[in-house]
Amino acid sequence: MPEPIYYREMRLLDKNNLGQDEDWYGNTAAIRCFACGKVFVTSQVLHRKGRVCPVCGKCKVAFTKEGVSVSEATDL
Ligand SMILES: [Zn+2]
Repeated sequence: MPEPIYYREMRLLDKNNLGQDEDWYGNTAAIRCFACGKVFVTSQVLHRKGRVCPVCGKCKVAFTKEGVSVSEATDL
């Protein structure tokens, strides 16, 4: 079973070192989609299973035990 070659690794937002196009406040985080550039917010309350980019659906943001994760949306 070959591994996907173009897999994008999951990353966690660094609350103390947010990028210019990232924000995280309380139960809400905003990031820029790595695929299409759209900035969108994800709410820990409203999006319990995370939220995918509303424009292209390729990027997924989710609140996890470790923090806010940004990954490729593979399980749509
Ligand atoms: Zn997108």
